[in-house]
Amino acid sequence: MMHSEQPALSIVVPMYNEEESVGPLVDAVRDALNGEPSWELVLVDDGSRDSTVKIAEALAEADPRVVVLQLARNYGQTQAMQAGFDRARGRIVVSMDGDLQNDPRDIPLLVAKLEEGYDLVAGYRMRRQDKVVTRKIPSWVANRIIIWLTGVRIRDNGCSLKAYRRELLDQLHLYSDMHRFLPALAAATANARIAEVPVRHHARRFGVSKYGLSRIAKLLADLLTIKMIATFRENPLAMFGLGALASGIVAMGFLAAWLTSFVQRADPLDVVPMNAYVFPGSALLCIALAVFLTMLGLIAEEALQKVRAEDQIEQLDLARARA
Ligand code: UDP
Ligand code: MG
Repeated sequence: MMHSEQPALSIVVPMYNEEESVGPLVDAVRDALNGEPSWELVLVDDGSRDSTVKIAEALAEADPRVVVLQLARNYGQTQAMQAGFDRARGRIVVSMDGDLQNDPRDIPLLVAKLEEGYDLVAGYRMRRQDKVVTRKIPSWVANRIIIWLTGVRIRDNGCSLKAYRRELLDQLHLYSDMHRFLPALAAATANARIAEVPVRHHARRFGVSKYGLSRIAKLLADLLTIKMIATFRENPLAMFGLGALASGIVAMGFLAAWLTSFVQRADPLDVVPMNAYVFPGSALLCIALAVFLTMLGLIAEEALQKVRAEDQIEQLDLARARA
């Protein structure tokens, strides 16, 4: 049985309302992978409302190498890709768009490069066929910001055509819009070895693009989250300690105000509510907060020990796969 064997190569394609592209895409992949020994094409339907699923399922029926994965609703490209990665069985996985903008003929080139000993091979679009103002310029700025924030020099984070080692994908858990800076993420969190190769790019032939300028805001929010996680993951006690310190300093301020009011009062029996209750009360709260934050930092540190140990094992797996 063809589909019970594990294929060497999996192609993962997210599709949202791409009914006209499915057929030509499957044909193009089949032609491009003519020389490859064993492969599967995982078409992930991301809650399409047109006949994408119907067409895809008919194609899967006719060719056991084509698999259709249907999501319950429109989750977004990143989630669709992650679902495809989870389903893919190949030792090497390739992702690409389902709108024929990427060219399946580049797949063998990416795979060959990966086999030179890389964990991720990212395509960069040589002559990108997209609108300048809404696409190319935001993309150029985004790539600059990603380089600046992550320190990982990747030319074209946004190109979907990429090849990955299975062991690398096992370490990544994509959510939100993270497919947009996957190489930077892989380098920063999994120490992935990355290569870039130039790939072809075509203008959209059918259907419409699924994104507007709103994706920029989402990208920035994602990047900030990643940056925070990457920075404090190394040393959570430092982050919580900083909060505890700030809280402690505020507490000292309240204590000082309380003492001053105590010393300066004219009549020893006169109790001003502000001085007698608010200052010491606030100081107490701040001290409690400082203690609480310190304890949280210690717990985070403890919990991370375990995560780090798991990371090390995954790193070993990745290194073994590379060799
Ligand atoms: N896509 C998806 N879910 C979505 C949006 C897009 O699966 O919610 C797919 C889409 O069908 C295409 C790929 O992701 O195969 C890239 O989308 P698109 O071509 O619209 O992006 P662009 O190339 O314009 O950046
Ligand atoms: Mg596109």
